[in-house]
Amino acid sequence: MQSAHSRAPGRVELLGNHTDYNAGVILSAAINYAVTAAGERIDEPVVRLTSAAYPQTISVPLAGLARQTGAASWTNYPLGVVDCLQKEGFTLGGMQLRFASDLPEGAGLSSSAALEVATACLLKKLFALDLADPMHLAKICRRAENEFAGVSCGLLDQVSSVFGKAGHAIFLDCRSEEVSNLPLPAAAALLVFQSGVPHRLAGGEYNERREQCFAAATALGVSALREISGPQLAATRAKLDSTVFRRAAHVVGENERVFAGIKCLQAGDVAGFGALMFASHESSRTNFENSTPELDTLVELARAIPGVFGSRLTGGGFGGATISLVEKNRAPEIAARLSADYTAASGHRGAPYICTSADGAA
Ligand code: ADP
Ligand code: MG
Repeated sequence: MQSAHSRAPGRVELLGNHTDYNAGVILSAAINYAVTAAGERIDEPVVRLTSAAYPQTISVPLAGLARQTGAASWTNYPLGVVDCLQKEGFTLGGMQLRFASDLPEGAGLSSSAALEVATACLLKKLFALDLADPMHLAKICRRAENEFAGVSCGLLDQVSSVFGKAGHAIFLDCRSEEVSNLPLPAAAALLVFQSGVPHRLAGGEYNERREQCFAAATALGVSALREISGPQLAATRAKLDSTVFRRAAHVVGENERVFAGIKCLQAGDVAGFGALMFASHESSRTNFENSTPELDTLVELARAIPGVFGSRLTGGGFGGATISLVEKNRAPEIAARLSADYTAASGHRGAPYICTSADGAA
């Protein structure tokens, strides 16, 4: 094929916070904000990249792809996909690719994974690649982010962008790599609210939390916290340092809330699911300490608004956004009230995104 185009959505984590590196479980949804890509094969053996969000066109020789720095850093995500495909033995040729997006960058909605997945889907078509297994495609994109862009991330972002289904949530088991879709209540919308305080995952907190989770697993004699149930953890409280115990309690609780959440979705119990979201946030606030005063304010304000079923921080925490499950037909009015209440309470200007669950990349 000489030219092709693709589209890959962002995602939002619904339940299952910091469970990925603990071999745990997560519920997410692909959303109706996405990166789109269009491209052609060209004779010159280069990768030529442009994005509507950045002024320059970047051209990189296809052989021995070099990592980019400075203003060109964004190209490491698509270049990483090209690099991984070549390393996996796929034959590519010269190409020019153009990206556009309505997905905010760095807002915790996984624009980086959407960029990778849009690239992979485009190249699959352009070069007729034998990439029939969507999990294989997601893993190539994750590897691109880990190895070429140099960002360590779990598989959730790429899996969500690939396996999304309109009207459905996505379940990912990080241990077995099982993925499935569960129906979301038709009467509910997903309200993502940016706190206006960027997430600071590059800081030491993220690595410190990881280390504490691994320390808890080691002290409990398991390879990952996934293997510990709530009652088991409670029984071993004396073995753990109190901070490490609270970190473990968050992860163990989140895994349990994901399984409880699945039951709620299967039963159409939107209030029950919402209650789990509030409990998740409370655990972030007190156990994992990955919330911020702004995120706490947003959750408390949301709780007071009629039509809100549940609310919690989403993603890594330490800033970023909340996700609220809200009555669909009242979503605009809820978003407006939350915006006004938040600015009045905190002095920050937040940004609401009313989302619906969307199909994965195509
Ligand atoms: P998130 O994935 O939560 O949005 P990240 O920091 O992981 O945040 O990824 C954001 C980065 O992805 C941006 O800094 C940029 O390098 C790249 N990116 C995302 N969307 C685009 C786009 N439309 N065009 C170019 N680069 C993009
Ligand atoms: Mg990202």
